Amino acid sequence: MTETDRTNSQLARLFEQMAAALDLLGKNAFRVNASARVARVIRDQADQIANVIARAREEDTKPLAVLKAIDGIGKGSAEKIIEYVDTGTIAEHTELMEQVPAGLFDVLEIPGLGPKTVRLMWEQLSITCVADLKGKLDSEELAALPRMGKKTIDNIRQAITFAEESAGRTPLGIARPIALALVEHLKSVSGVTRAEYAGSLRRGCETIGDIDILVACTDPEAVREAFCTQSRAVQVLARGETKCSIRIRFEHATMQADLRIVPQEAFGAALMYFTGSKDHNVRLREVAIGNGMRLNEYGLFTTTDERPQDAGIKPTAAQTEQDVFAALGLEWIPPEMREDRGEVKACAEGMGVPHLITRGDIKAELHAHTDASDGKQSLEELVASAQKRGYHTLAVTDHSVSSVIANGLDPKRLRRHIKRVRALNEKTEGITILAGSEVDIHPDGRLDYDDDLLAELDVVVASPHVSLRQDRAAATRRLLAAVTHPRVHILGHPTGRIINGRAGLDPDLNELFAAAAEHGTALEINSSWKRLDLRDTHVRAAVQDFGCLIAIDTDAHSDGHFENIEYGILTARRAWLEPESCINTWAAGKLHDWLAGKRESSRR
Ligand SMILES: [Zn+2]
Ligand SMILES: [Zn+2]
Repeated sequence: MTETDRTNSQLARLFEQMAAALDLLGKNAFRVNASARVARVIRDQADQIANVIARAREEDTKPLAVLKAIDGIGKGSAEKIIEYVDTGTIAEHTELMEQVPAGLFDVLEIPGLGPKTVRLMWEQLSITCVADLKGKLDSEELAALPRMGKKTIDNIRQAITFAEESAGRTPLGIARPIALALVEHLKSVSGVTRAEYAGSLRRGCETIGDIDILVACTDPEAVREAFCTQSRAVQVLARGETKCSIRIRFEHATMQADLRIVPQEAFGAALMYFTGSKDHNVRLREVAIGNGMRLNEYGLFTTTDERPQDAGIKPTAAQTEQDVFAALGLEWIPPEMREDRGEVKACAEGMGVPHLITRGDIKAELHAHTDASDGKQSLEELVASAQKRGYHTLAVTDHSVSSVIANGLDPKRLRRHIKRVRALNEKTEGITILAGSEVDIHPDGRLDYDDDLLAELDVVVASPHVSLRQDRAAATRRLLAAVTHPRVHILGHPTGRIINGRAGLDPDLNELFAAAAEHGTALEINSSWKRLDLRDTHVRAAVQDFGCLIAIDTDAHSDGHFENIEYGILTARRAWLEPESCINTWAAGKLHDWLAGKRESSRR
């Protein structure tokens, strides 16, 4: 990531907003499409546009000419890009934003609502925000708008409920880089002995409210100053002795971050307290009380008095989490398990903490795309990405023919692709490259290729991509057809949900997990932080109650995506997953035998 403030993603966002505003204002389609295309082109640039312009000027070339040479950027757009890089704004963008009520962009985000419909709502019903729309859901005037059947209105209602439930929560994959950068920044301040993030982020939750950071240090004022005045802070909400709050911007996300300065000798107790969850902490306090002790953020005390620290009593354990857990008579419980889902009881009863999977256990990537479909990397680059991570196996799983937008492969192209993969595997040392496919599961459960073609593949990942609002019975039939199909190895992103975006399929999980276990089909944890699908609680049920196998894959479309494995691992740890249940941790021989075995048995 470059340190320039005016990033491609911010610039692309402005063009996206202009496209949406032009559309809402009923301007001609050509202008709308041109803005939308420029946004896409900017997002796809490997170089930061601001750097490209700076370089052009250093070399005495006209930035305008350099930008116009990029496919999809015309003169007008190039001028706006330069305006943005030079001034931080685009006048036309500012003008357009003044003409469209800000709340209308939220209405436009509701799945199933296009700009034409939203414009009609605005013009005819004076709807300018989601709350307005919500107030009119049962009105006849809304039902009277063109293309506004009962089903559409039901869908809108569902989408609004879903958006309300996820409001204010930031996806893990956006929050974690912000927190890591903050912690790094604070660690560089002199006198800081410890800096850690706590809260739902440390527990690896899929969405995060605020970022909580704990610091132990010898110079609190230096830490407060560094925290409140850093370049990414857009607002200081509070600046107290031991607690400061700021709003922080990163790319185009903003979040609240809270800093707490805690004594070094009580750091462990504070870290436990602020990591939570609240319910987990309640259980731990019960254990303490049961032992005649008191636990709070200052430590574990051998008295049941409230606030013993105020009476000058010193804790018996406080400096590290390990000390506190040990003094409670418990093993250290990994943060991802601290959800009051039986972890304290399991630990107290001596069953011991499970040996949770770690990133280092992952030895294979079994779901990844190349530029043959919608990936950014060539086949060779993808292989290099997997080798760089020390994997012994990579499955190349480009999209199948129905995924038109993703440039899915028709049978002829797939056969050529298989040949290329096998040829590259022949001449590549140190890694096994498998020919696979991410095959669409049609709404009725059929797969996108016939059985003969599927039989030519080493790995078949079957995934749902369309019709993700099917009713439960249809969704169950559809996914059952896939997991019981003899040539399917992995069910990819089983529900198709998008975090903060759409709920996805809601199949009968008991039926699905029982069938997956019976047929030896692995269920995926898709590590993309937008998906994390299956989710933690479902993975735990699949493995503990049904004995299912799990695949943790990144669904990589670029080299950077390989790093998303962190999010898949966090989700797996929240599911108490141990390495043996995850096929990506298996030694090469065992994994290859399992893949081939499934294929052999399907030929009988
Ligand atoms: Zn997919
Ligand atoms: Zn995929």
